[in-house]
Amino acid sequence: MKHKINIFIFSASILVTCLFFSETEHFYLILFILGLLFFIILSAGVIFMKFNYFMKNKNRLNSAKVLLTFDDGPHNSNTDKVLRILKSHEIKAVFFVIGDRLTKNKEIALKIAQEGHIIGNHSQTHNPMMSLFSKRRLNTEINQAQESIFQIIKIKPSIFRPPIGYTNPNYAAVIKKLNMKCIGWSLRSYDSIYKTSDKLISRLVKKTKPGDIVLLHDNLDVTCASLNQYIIKAKSNGIIFASSEDIQNILDD
Ligand SMILES: [Zn+2]
Repeated sequence: MKHKINIFIFSASILVTCLFFSETEHFYLILFILGLLFFIILSAGVIFMKFNYFMKNKNRLNSAKVLLTFDDGPHNSNTDKVLRILKSHEIKAVFFVIGDRLTKNKEIALKIAQEGHIIGNHSQTHNPMMSLFSKRRLNTEINQAQESIFQIIKIKPSIFRPPIGYTNPNYAAVIKKLNMKCIGWSLRSYDSIYKTSDKLISRLVKKTKPGDIVLLHDNLDVTCASLNQYIIKAKSNGIIFASSEDIQNILDD
């Protein structure tokens, strides 16, 4: 929606410029600035899901709970460690799985679902160039992951998270057609950048607020090594993580 507004404002301002400023010495400069502004707004819309630029995404909860989300698994050893930590704290989370990894780690994929966590679609291959894919290729990527998940877990997720978090108008059309919901985050852990647990834990504990959707990666060693301490410290700050009572409905409101 915001994308359409941006296109409308850009087109109208180009028209006005051509009608009233074409004889002025700054005509081309004005056109350049308008084009640049359009491009900056468009790029921000692609990069930042929270702007809801191409489509409406869920980036925060309406409740005071905190939802942990884990991307890029299942991993053959780390996902199991994450599951054990979550179980010990009676926390339920969302796992945005990659279809290719799921078919290689079937047992752990099943365990995620059996332990009451929610499975989300994170594409079949997690191609880093996915934000440049055509509608047809995006549709194939997402549908293949749906099939991979269904083959093993016998469910078809209703939620999707784009790899790298980049979106575009093609995503909006495909997600709408598949009747899925796009889930972003309000707190990015940067666990793929942090090398040591101490820094990751301290960032997460400091930043976690009620209503947050936290982005983590269950395939990373540093995330597994940090998760237990993060949860303990966040809880002591009064943070309440989603439990089995909340998990089925927490993304619906
Ligand atoms: Zn990812």
